[in-house]
Amino acid sequence: MCIFCKIVAKEIPSHVLYEDEGYLAILDISQVTKGHALILPKTHYDDFRVAPDDVSGKCISIAKRLSFQLEQTYAPLGYNLLSNCGEAAGQSVHHLHFHLIPRYDETDGLVLKFNAADHPDLKKIADEINQKK
Ligand code: AMP
Ligand code: ZN
Repeated sequence: MCIFCKIVAKEIPSHVLYEDEGYLAILDISQVTKGHALILPKTHYDDFRVAPDDVSGKCISIAKRLSFQLEQTYAPLGYNLLSNCGEAAGQSVHHLHFHLIPRYDETDGLVLKFNAADHPDLKKIADEINQKK
């Protein structure tokens, strides 16, 4: 059983922020920023690519609701909502989850930098991707 399935089964303790029949939101143990939360379905899916669309949708709607609670608690300036898929993307727990990371300023715990490519050929890239439709 994976670690999040164990949390769902209450075999491992967690700090619950939201729970219903099918979903759970807990504090991430690492607290990259204050209030960093994880939203997950109770059913095990490895990642968003194999989960039904409505499952990811429900996770995002729980994240939205939690963001309003966090707003009233810590007044963050923004949020990152992200789901890592695959080890190359930093996924360490292979049970679908979304990170809701409140942002305070550029010196808080999350460094997320988009390095732009030099002169990307957008037409070529779009054509290549669109061939696989
Ligand atoms: P990812 O790297 O996207 O797969 O994220 C997994 C997250 O799960 C990490 O941010 C960990 O800090 C978090 N995590 C691992 N074990 C626990 C746990 N027992 N309780 C809460 N969060 C956990
Ligand atoms: Zn699991």
